[in-house]
Amino acid sequence: MNIKPIENIIIVGGGTAGWVAASSLARVLPKQSYRITLVESDQIGIIGVGEATIPPIQDVHKMLGVDEADFIRSTEASFKLGIEFHNWSEQGSRYFHPFGQYGREFDSVSFHQYWMRARELGFESELSDFSLGTQMAKAGKFVPSNNDPQSILSSMGYAYHFDASLYAKFLRRLAEGMGVVRREGKVIDVSLDHDSGFIDTILMEDGEAISGDLFIDCTGFASILLGKTLGVEFEDWSHLLKANRAVAVPSQNVGETRPYTQSIAHPAGWQWRIPLQHRTGNGLVFCDDYLSEDEACQLLLSNLEGEALADPRVLRFRTGRRQQAWHKNCIAVGLSAGFLEPLESTAIHLVQTMVARLLQLFPSSGFQQADIDEFNQQFCREYDMVRDFIVLHYHVNQRSEPLWRDAREMAIPESLSHKIRLFESHGRFFERQDDLFKKASWLAVMMGQGLKPSDYDPIANRKPAAGLCQWLKNIQSAYGDAIGAMPDHDRFIAEYCRAKKDRVA
Ligand SMILES: Cc1cc2nc3c(=O)[nH]c(=O)nc-3n(C[C@H](O)[C@H](O)[C@H](O)COP(=O)(O)OP(=O)(O)OC[C@H]3O[C@@H](n4cnc5c(N)ncnc54)[C@H](O)[C@@H]3O)c2cc1C
Repeated sequence: MNIKPIENIIIVGGGTAGWVAASSLARVLPKQSYRITLVESDQIGIIGVGEATIPPIQDVHKMLGVDEADFIRSTEASFKLGIEFHNWSEQGSRYFHPFGQYGREFDSVSFHQYWMRARELGFESELSDFSLGTQMAKAGKFVPSNNDPQSILSSMGYAYHFDASLYAKFLRRLAEGMGVVRREGKVIDVSLDHDSGFIDTILMEDGEAISGDLFIDCTGFASILLGKTLGVEFEDWSHLLKANRAVAVPSQNVGETRPYTQSIAHPAGWQWRIPLQHRTGNGLVFCDDYLSEDEACQLLLSNLEGEALADPRVLRFRTGRRQQAWHKNCIAVGLSAGFLEPLESTAIHLVQTMVARLLQLFPSSGFQQADIDEFNQQFCREYDMVRDFIVLHYHVNQRSEPLWRDAREMAIPESLSHKIRLFESHGRFFERQDDLFKKASWLAVMMGQGLKPSDYDPIANRKPAAGLCQWLKNIQSAYGDAIGAMPDHDRFIAEYCRAKKDRVA
């Protein structure tokens, strides 16, 4: 193994991945021991999508010392309580995947088990009645969650929608403030050390050669270091997830700012709507076997709520991940490491966990294979778990069009079919600590798309029937009272973090 001390870190790419990596490393690593340089090309630019997030982003912002209101104003952000899915089970159907819990566990029995029993006893309600986040979203209300177990607000969670380009600028300001040096220009070649095969130098278009000890590949789909130079193979998952295109377009805001993302299934794809303060981000994810790019643009444009603010932009992608994200002295973070369609807004989170993992396994003098192996195992497991959750949405659809019929009939990973079988038996889930999507998320999608357990867990019979129904009514009325006292999402933004009016969309 190479034993050179790691002092000079080169990050190639200045999208969300590059700047998350740069700011996090600069925040955590001792300044006197490391030089961090980020190289990016204005000519190539960034992908410019990636605007919906999930709650762990708050932990990253805390670690970076980000002031929430400043971040929201700087990125024209809004709050996100979850995702509303339309037409996924069948045309006209609707369900909400909230952040947070359903009800409360009691005697170590999951809340939904009691709810299923109460339904059998004739207590009429939906599981979503017991999700504070879902009810807040329905009412268009927002207040932040908290961690006080005594507070009703600890049962929900939230994340953000933000402008991807403004977020990269926000992180850049942060990273440069912590000493990261930005170098503008295009990398045109990469040279390797003859003996070790490690990356030695990147060659810039203007002729400068930049050498480093550790290289972080944040070059997006191009993956110029890990993929192109080091030849790490891409594991293609198009046999599990067929989508290979997206078309994106911003539109004018209409009406109130929803505190949630919308995901709307169409006969040959699905559409996202992401509300920001100054505009709405829209896109359609599809597979070109079922819909041409022109048809996709037309479909998206005819389903906007407000006027389009630009021409639609087509993005082509391949679903899957690299076989390893860390090879020799190079680590891929972001789109260069892998891609899963944005159905559950997971990509930015995967960027953040990759960087956190790198910091946990950071090399000192040289590279140890055990660290690299651990990193890669965790990387693969995390991507595979997210993939299963995305596949679930397609697999349990009940639509009749060719895309949806094919998606339903495609073979799925055994890890996923086991989860489905367990749920269908007694509605049970077994979580691992590092699972990104916990029980509540699986429940939301499985129940939302029509899967039903054949029975509830018999331990739920421990609560007497009369007490059980009263308990559920009490939770419903506590949620109702709490929501009644909450401000509308727009009012909360206006009072806490409204962006300046003069920004050009
Ligand atoms: C359609 C779509 C929708 C998405 N929606 C979401 C979402 O809602 N939520 C979410 O979490 N994620 C989403 N994502 C993913 C998200 O956009 C990315 O994970 C995130 O933006 C990180 O991208 P990146 O930084 O890896 O790549 P990019 O933004 O593409 O950045 C690549 C960088 O590398 C630089 N570069 C490339 N080649 C060179 C070179 N030769 N020399 C110098 N510099 C170079 C570029 O200039 C750029 O700075 C979506 C992705 C797609 C495709």
